[in-house]
Amino acid sequence: MATLIAKGERKHVVIMGAGPAGLTAAYELMKRSVPVTVLEKDPRQVGGLARTVEHNGYRFDIGGHRFFSKNQEVEDLWTEILGDEMLNRGRLSRIYYRGRFFAYPIQAFNALWNLGPLEAVRCLASYLRARLQPVKSPLTLEDWVRNQFGWRLYSIFFKTYTEKVWGISTKELSADWAAQRIKSLDLWVVIRSALLPRRNPSRRGEIVTTLIDRFRYPRLGPGQMWERVAEISAVKGHPVLLDRSVVRVNHDDGAVSSVVTTDSDGSAETHAGTDFISSIPIRELIARLEPPAPEKVRRAASALGYRDFISIALMIDRPAVFPDNWIYIHDPRVRVGRIQNFKNWSPDMVPDQGKTCLGLEYFCFESDGLWTMRDAELIELAKKELGQLGICSAGDVFDGVVVRQQKAYPVYDDGYQANVAVVRDYLARSLPNLHLAGRNGMHKYNNQDHSMMTALLVARNIAAGSRLDPWKVNADAVYHEDIKVGERDLTGRQVAERMRAKA
Ligand SMILES: Cc1cc2nc3c(=O)[nH]c(=O)nc-3n(C[C@H](O)[C@H](O)[C@H](O)COP(=O)(O)OP(=O)(O)OC[C@H]3O[C@@H](n4cnc5c(N)ncnc54)[C@H](O)[C@@H]3O)c2cc1C
Repeated sequence: MATLIAKGERKHVVIMGAGPAGLTAAYELMKRSVPVTVLEKDPRQVGGLARTVEHNGYRFDIGGHRFFSKNQEVEDLWTEILGDEMLNRGRLSRIYYRGRFFAYPIQAFNALWNLGPLEAVRCLASYLRARLQPVKSPLTLEDWVRNQFGWRLYSIFFKTYTEKVWGISTKELSADWAAQRIKSLDLWVVIRSALLPRRNPSRRGEIVTTLIDRFRYPRLGPGQMWERVAEISAVKGHPVLLDRSVVRVNHDDGAVSSVVTTDSDGSAETHAGTDFISSIPIRELIARLEPPAPEKVRRAASALGYRDFISIALMIDRPAVFPDNWIYIHDPRVRVGRIQNFKNWSPDMVPDQGKTCLGLEYFCFESDGLWTMRDAELIELAKKELGQLGICSAGDVFDGVVVRQQKAYPVYDDGYQANVAVVRDYLARSLPNLHLAGRNGMHKYNNQDHSMMTALLVARNIAAGSRLDPWKVNADAVYHEDIKVGERDLTGRQVAERMRAKA
């Protein structure tokens, strides 16, 4: 099958990937009456990393997905799509370390109390040393976090877990990651937030993201949001095309003209369009360009790294196991990095309130032994580790299933910024009708709200001919232009005080 668009015909946008970015772009374009074709390689479902998997009536995320944004437009969009199906949930998450549970986000007194008086004094002394003699211009994650917390707290609460997540030393990770994800957080902020009354939660811009203690969550998991958008899309005559893996991106005369997909039977289709949005990993996109991109661009794209992820869902024959939404496992004796309790995200994630579903999360590379272990072995490992941690015994587990997720995290190593810049520059100059959006689509380690905001801007550029720059959306999903309070920003919205404060 081939879709062909004659030159000069009205706009038709081909979107690669039906995760939050691809589906948000489709939703916005359809609102503006621009036809879309959404291509998704998954044969069964939409939602990408934010999909919800179902197994024998038990539902679980690829890592628990909190819905929280400092961007009111994104929050409003979630409400518009799911209305009352969005639950408002309290957060409880703790760190498991040396057989004890520590509050997370870290609460100064709880942490120091749990560590005992001697270790507490050491931690405070090391924090004071870090404040008096900070590493100037920290480039690595290790230096950045040490400056905020001191060496001892850093080594207890950040080093082991961060190295489990990324599989490389914190000395090799760029400070960008911490600066984006735990910015404005240091021991002083933690102490102050414990002592002072809570600020008005409606002033979202002032909230330190890591400290958020309430969030929204779809009743049936994050996938419910994206399945609903796919339904709306189908009703409007643009069903998402599942089982379509983009294998070639054809271009000529300085523009992309079509993309070729194959399905699981190997059948190929060509999808032509006037504009193209890619939310698929940059490394894959560049490798699929035909004719190939220049050598320098291919080298830059292929140097981009990703971290993969395995979630092992275990069904437990107990109504309650622990009260947290999730627990971070800092214990170096086990390989599991985090444990989700999906029933505590939404009771409707389990079919029977007498049972519990835990998601044990393992961070890995496709090339390492964990990824290639058989499912039955992985389930045994997860059961054994639950027992080792004293969370529940293997005998309580009556079912289990393994979900492998490639490219769950774009890696922020020393070279990633320069490599992304090479790709961006090439695409902007050579293929201006190919637009990047989303997480792996832009190699930005960000949440759904960021992916959605970049997609909204790209869709508006295509539909309205505006020149918004999705790279100026910051990690808080705020469009980061230098504009004055009271003026309309480039998205047509009134600029709020807090946005200016961040610009
Ligand atoms: C463990 C974990 C926990 C997270 N927790 C949160 C959270 O609490 N809150 C939050 O807001 N966000 C969270 N996120 C981030 C969130 O999942 C992402 O920001 C969001 O899913 C990114 O959307 P996207 O559309 O850019 O990319 P993706 O979700 O990756 O979607 C891209 C889509 O493209 C498809 N695709 C890839 N290659 C091809 C191809 N060749 N052809 C066709 N299709 C292709 C994929 O199958 C996928 O469906 C978490 C992510 C992870 C991994």
